[in-house]
Amino acid sequence: MKPIHVFKFGGASVRSAEAIRNLAQIVRKYKDENLVIVVSAMAKTTNALEALLQHWLNGETDALNQKVREIKSFHMGAALELVNGNSAHILIGELEVLFEQFDQQLSGTPTKGYDFHYDQLVSFGEIFSTRIVSHYLNFEGIPTRLLDARRLLRTDTSYREGVVDEKTSGLLCQREFDFVSANIYLTQGFIGGTEVGTITTLGREGSDYTAALLANLLGAQDVTIWKDVEGVLNADPKIFDSTCKLEFVSYQEAIELAYCGAQIIHPKTIKPLQNKRIPLYVKSFINPELPGTVIAHSDVVIKLPPVLVLKPKQVLITLSPRDFSFVIEDCLSKIFAILYKHRVKVNMIHTSAINFSICVDDEKLRMDAALEELRSDYMVRYNSNLELLTIRHYTAETIEKYIGGRTVYLQQRTRSTARFVIDAR
Ligand code: ASP
Ligand code: MG
Repeated sequence: MKPIHVFKFGGASVRSAEAIRNLAQIVRKYKDENLVIVVSAMAKTTNALEALLQHWLNGETDALNQKVREIKSFHMGAALELVNGNSAHILIGELEVLFEQFDQQLSGTPTKGYDFHYDQLVSFGEIFSTRIVSHYLNFEGIPTRLLDARRLLRTDTSYREGVVDEKTSGLLCQREFDFVSANIYLTQGFIGGTEVGTITTLGREGSDYTAALLANLLGAQDVTIWKDVEGVLNADPKIFDSTCKLEFVSYQEAIELAYCGAQIIHPKTIKPLQNKRIPLYVKSFINPELPGTVIAHSDVVIKLPPVLVLKPKQVLITLSPRDFSFVIEDCLSKIFAILYKHRVKVNMIHTSAINFSICVDDEKLRMDAALEELRSDYMVRYNSNLELLTIRHYTAETIEKYIGGRTVYLQQRTRSTARFVIDAR
């Protein structure tokens, strides 16, 4: 059998009819290869669906209907720009059916908790986009089989953070991808399904993870993530000036960067690839012939320039035991059990005799729930409106350049990494 390539196209690469045409041009070059294409929701649809969900939960009918109309006309508009004639007829009909299913969800009452409803609704972004993209590829003479990721990736019922059962998913994938009856497959990123048929999502920006998982389960030769940047840069060009592209990044470095908050790839992406030593290419969908960045195994340490990662929307929480007892192992394990239970994401930790500080993502719902439990035993203080800057392979000059003159709330340094919790600008 020919090797399998996995391509992932994120929201920006399918943000409009024009972008989808560009996607087709890239895919056309691989028309005779075995290809698995993973697609995200178009443009900022996931954000729009999150806003829509909030209107639904708040019972804001007018705002809700307005959002539904916007999302629908955006997708219908793109579809009509891409295909015409009978094909347009068929695609619009199919989208109508999907929007009816979507409306049906909204006609019920939200009784099953935020995370559950989030997944049932927000997952539609990928359902809509893949229907349009697969239809267009076929229309363009690139025969593509659309598979439903809800039937490929089996997860547990941890809504908004589905834990993938790799064994079952492997079997499901073997059944669906035979690479005989078709050679190009397309499916949704970000979503999976439970045993009982409900939908789960894998965490924001989870399509990279989907691509990596499928590559692992299918034994693919490589994965390519097509982006609007040249490859992995040493810093986000939207935030920092004078950035440079990294040619090669080891799995280890990539996982560290993703963990610090680098937006370039979803943190869970590396493990499935590393486990089978599948290289990951990050390439530009604007200039597909450029080499991009390779993320792969390396036995030697590769010297990198300073790499900057800014994690916005951080809160620094300091807990002090009310009875003045030391913050040591037993007490730490209880604190972590509570944080874990409420899925509070801890990005940095600092302890002293009677203080325990954590820098966490500013996710109000989760944090309030955790703090509520902690307040009986701890005094809680917090600073909000912060950001966390990580500098890998730092130099004195880079620290001075980016930290000089700013108020630092907390900092940590190892030989390779310096991290600073600072006021958001
Ligand atoms: N559409 C989802 C999101 O925006 C997943 C993804 O793009 O990877 O978070
Ligand atoms: Mg997206």
